[in-house]
Amino acid sequence: MLAARRKLPRDVASGPEAEQRVVSAIVEAILDQKLAPGARLVERELALSSGASRLAIRNGLLRLAQSGLVELSPNKGATIATCGPREAREIFDARVLIESSLLTTLSEKASEDDIARLDAFVEDERQAYAAGRMQDARYLSRGFHLLIADLAGNRVLASFLRELINKQPLLSWTGNGSRSCFCGNQAHSEIVRAIAAGDASAAVALNVEHLRELERQLIADRGKALGVEQPSSGEAKAIAERPPKRARALSTKGAFDWRAKRDAAGVLAGKTRGAR
Ligand SMILES: [Zn+2]
Repeated sequence: MLAARRKLPRDVASGPEAEQRVVSAIVEAILDQKLAPGARLVERELALSSGASRLAIRNGLLRLAQSGLVELSPNKGATIATCGPREAREIFDARVLIESSLLTTLSEKASEDDIARLDAFVEDERQAYAAGRMQDARYLSRGFHLLIADLAGNRVLASFLRELINKQPLLSWTGNGSRSCFCGNQAHSEIVRAIAAGDASAAVALNVEHLRELERQLIADRGKALGVEQPSSGEAKAIAERPPKRARALSTKGAFDWRAKRDAAGVLAGKTRGAR
């Protein structure tokens, strides 16, 4: 392998910043579906492509393992985690609980500035979908739920929610980048109106309906990727339990551009990308 013969950069970076760079780049690659569930992460290749030290890589991988995005095993090393139907259900059940609490809190205390921020965010998201900027649109769709968490002001719940949302692409890997338009901009808009009206129960009900629809779409996308167009609910479980057919190992070349991703907001870092 060519990469194995290359020397490590002399000015390899260590410390929290380098670790965060590793974490952010891997999270971004998962969110962009550039790293498949089951893909191997080779420490030396990660060091070469990220410019981070081996120690920073290991610490970054440990953090990703703690959040369930990476699996570490003595035999296989580090691999991107895989998510089955049971985990999908657990993730969405957890999202319903956490987001219902956040929406109740926010509906009771949202200021005019909070509503203006939410309105502006939903408008940015609408424009991104309308212009066909799907990658931006998907970031904004995920960011909407994180913005609600930030505005509600519970940092612990916000952190849990961020970890759950980061795992979502692992549930719906299609291998060809074709995905449904997951997050309904219309649903977000209706949720903001309910928050603005101080109607917590409506905001919660709208969001629960929205999350269950999202869960159904993820299962349908997984079914399509595995070659079954429209799985019935009975088939969906069996389909989702099959491994993705195009799980691929990470190679340094062409996998993703570390340096381009270096300054991208890391969702794990607690930044709501695109939030203004
Ligand atoms: Zn949404």
